[in-house]
Amino acid sequence: MNFSLASMINSVSAPVLELQNLHVSAEGSPILRGVNLVVGEGEVHALMGPNGAGKSTLANVVMGHPGYVVTEGTILYRGQDVASWSPDERARQGIFLAFQYPESISGVSVIQFLRQAIAARKGLDELSVLEVRLDLAEWMDRLGMDAAFAERHLNEGFSGGERKRNEVLQMALLEPALALLDETDSGLDIDALRVVANGVRTVRAELPAMGVLVVTHYVKLLEEIAPDQVHVLIDGRVVTSGGPEIAERIEREGYDALRPALA
Ligand code: ADP
Ligand code: MG
Repeated sequence: MNFSLASMINSVSAPVLELQNLHVSAEGSPILRGVNLVVGEGEVHALMGPNGAGKSTLANVVMGHPGYVVTEGTILYRGQDVASWSPDERARQGIFLAFQYPESISGVSVIQFLRQAIAARKGLDELSVLEVRLDLAEWMDRLGMDAAFAERHLNEGFSGGERKRNEVLQMALLEPALALLDETDSGLDIDALRVVANGVRTVRAELPAMGVLVVTHYVKLLEEIAPDQVHVLIDGRVVTSGGPEIAERIEREGYDALRPALA
């Protein structure tokens, strides 16, 4: 291990996430075209934008998804350039990406899945089932979940709300420094939205330094989560950033009103 003084100072004072002039391509096509974004410790930022704007690409590239290529610019996580870090390394360092689940993973229970995820994050080969159960029981209680949920098979027959609970539970147990929540564009019912909003609030109360970037096009979710800042991504660029009034404006006028802001 070589911790230089500079990198230690950096990691305590730097923002959790800083994107500098980020350009990203997939399969040779440019998707992100110069994104600048800073999420400080303990802050919640929302990333909004129409379908195809590049929101999921942004979340995926921060996590190190191999399908996306950074062609220009930098991703700094707590002041460190993550370019050479594998997705696993990013997860171990405390970057978490949720809401990107396969439909179901048959035969794996919620607790088995969590045990593997925690072992990977904490760099342990084997984590005692008991230890996970204690943590798990505490968090399920806090999140208002039934204890039997842990034994259910992952995502099999889960309602939208249960799926979200599982994701929030994973976030709580992994204790990330940076949580990226990529809400899918397909219909989320109001119950599922509340689960996400309440879950984020509960986890933040326990991990106040966690930075959160919520990707969504649901204004309703933002009303519940109350982000510190809202950014609007259109055609791979952040066209405007500001307070909750931006979300309200989008609800009133749609994204088209913001398009002319593009150069
Ligand atoms: P959003 O999440 O805002 O709806 P995405 O990031 O999913 O947008 O996609 C942005 C654009 O990039 C879309 O045109 C999409 O087709 C394209 N794209 C996303 N991922 C890939 C990929 N792996 N390969 C090729 N094109 C992609
Ligand atoms: Mg998306």
